[in-house]
Amino acid sequence: MRVVDIIEKKRDGKELTCKEISFIINGYVTGEIPDYQMSALLMAIYFNGLNDSETLTLVEEMLESGDVVDLSSIEGIKLDKHSTGGVGDKTSLVVGPIVASCGFKLAKMSGRGLGHTGGTIDKLESIDGFDVTMSEEEFFRQVNEIGIAIVGQTKNLVPADKLLYALRDVTATVSSIPLIAASIMSKKLASGAEKIVLDVKVGSGAFMETIDEATKLAETMVKIGKGFNREVVALITNMDEPLGYAVGNALEIKEAIETLKGNGPSDFTKLCNEIAAELLKLAGVKQPEEMIDNVISSGKALNKFYDFVSAQKGDVLQIKNDKLPKASLIIEYKASSDGYVSRIDATEIGKAAMIIGAGRASKDDSIDPSVGIIMKKKVSNKVSIGDVILEIHTNNEIEGLDEILGNAITISKKSPKVIPTIIKKVS
Ligand code: URA
Repeated sequence: MRVVDIIEKKRDGKELTCKEISFIINGYVTGEIPDYQMSALLMAIYFNGLNDSETLTLVEEMLESGDVVDLSSIEGIKLDKHSTGGVGDKTSLVVGPIVASCGFKLAKMSGRGLGHTGGTIDKLESIDGFDVTMSEEEFFRQVNEIGIAIVGQTKNLVPADKLLYALRDVTATVSSIPLIAASIMSKKLASGAEKIVLDVKVGSGAFMETIDEATKLAETMVKIGKGFNREVVALITNMDEPLGYAVGNALEIKEAIETLKGNGPSDFTKLCNEIAAELLKLAGVKQPEEMIDNVISSGKALNKFYDFVSAQKGDVLQIKNDKLPKASLIIEYKASSDGYVSRIDATEIGKAAMIIGAGRASKDDSIDPSVGIIMKKKVSNKVSIGDVILEIHTNNEIEGLDEILGNAITISKKSPKVIPTIIKKVS
């Protein structure tokens, strides 16, 4: 088999065989296929796509490139959720404790933030002592004992994805639906998930900018799940503006706790409740909304969060006593005209948060847990000149930040059309 023939085939829009896909993935992981040939093939896939059976084979080959976690030693129903990435997305920190306090299991591997999007692992690490690394045995024991554990992805989880993602990132081939679907689902399947709710973001801060594209991505991932005998449901949700009020690691932990107390922002609370309800439905619960209300109002979900933090060596008193890291400066960004906030661009807010240190421009950058942005207004809120729209929590004055924030915010005379938090469900 020659790589050039496979590139040519895909360039001409033909279907690749299982053997060809296997040859490509194995050859790339072992280093026998060079980046320039893989780049050409990725671009051919970007333009000509992969059909369902090619996509399934790609997932299978990617899965087999590394370790597959076996969760069978965890008792009970194992649930998992995944978000395609957004700004202010701290959903796992609320959904996890909710489903665990309802008696189900969440054994989750999460990622770090990159670019304008944040990562659950970074958020958790803003709590003193919180440990995101543990042995497989400790991971299983914790999930069996308290129902929830969240750790970083192990080094050998889908190594093919690590290599391919890095190459896609520098060859403008990230936003290909079959490649995104294969990347996400290979990692979900390798981490042992059984019943999965996918949160597919759409809008300015997401990979998918239109509902049609997001639906296609959701359908592809649901089909992959089915192909691997997993129950998968996807929600298409709004990422045109950041989720909730807080963007930035410690600020988001605080907001997640408020949400577990029942005092969260309405868009974020709605999303958490909907994802948790879909997970509980997959677990066979008939009236999930009632169960969720119960664990929130009784404080069970909040206590589960504290148990989870404590089990992973995090300082629970630090969060209870409001001692999470705080930035030294709060700069206000104010409305320059009267009207309605008609746009808070999620990507631009995510970029601004990254510039002040809440995120990383490249993989090895360090982050500052204390900094971030608080939205004092959301899209559709009425404002008068001088009203505070954003609070920038920073440790340094940053040149040029005002311009980015100016680009992120639009104030219009007319009240804008509001996009619902949950746009649709794909199952
Ligand atoms: N998230 C992933 O894990 N992979 C992609 O390709 C895109 C988003």
